[in-house]
Amino acid sequence: MSYNGDRQEDCQKEYIREQTDETQCDICFKLIANNEFLKHLEDCAEMNKVSGMKKKAIFYRFMSSEYSINQQFSALREKMALLENMTSDFESVFKQEGETIVGKTMAHFGSYLYLEKQLGLEEIEKRYEESDKLEEEKSKFFDERSAENLEEYRLKKKSVKEELQNQLERMMEYVMEKKDEIN
Ligand SMILES: [Zn+2]
Repeated sequence: MSYNGDRQEDCQKEYIREQTDETQCDICFKLIANNEFLKHLEDCAEMNKVSGMKKKAIFYRFMSSEYSINQQFSALREKMALLENMTSDFESVFKQEGETIVGKTMAHFGSYLYLEKQLGLEEIEKRYEESDKLEEEKSKFFDERSAENLEEYRLKKKSVKEELQNQLERMMEYVMEKKDEIN
């Protein structure tokens, strides 16, 4: 059976797709290949003298992007596929490692949301510097954005958890096929 061949081809296709996908840089607004994005961010932030906070916000957003999550899951899949014997606790090991990916991603996403809110507050401070509306505008923005962030965080967590479940199902299918081949 060509299952392994097909699978390899699938993996390759996925790999190529990941390599060619792009993310827009929030500094220069160019589309940058995902696998070059972090390097680009370093250079672009330095060249355009962007604040550390803005650079970090972009970094954390990228680190919690679908691309970064997929990268981590494919690394985990590869690692698990290399295990000599597919032991009975395979599922729980994968789940555990997957939960670590979920946790890390959510920490990155939380940092992004926090920094993005701070950047927004800085903007308002600049805009209303001379105005007696400054405090009012700041607290209005803070409340609105905090509520939005809560919702964004909730949705993101839901989608990352779903992704973990998908990955687990795919991995278990693969394990079953492997077992069938051996028997
Ligand atoms: Zn750029």
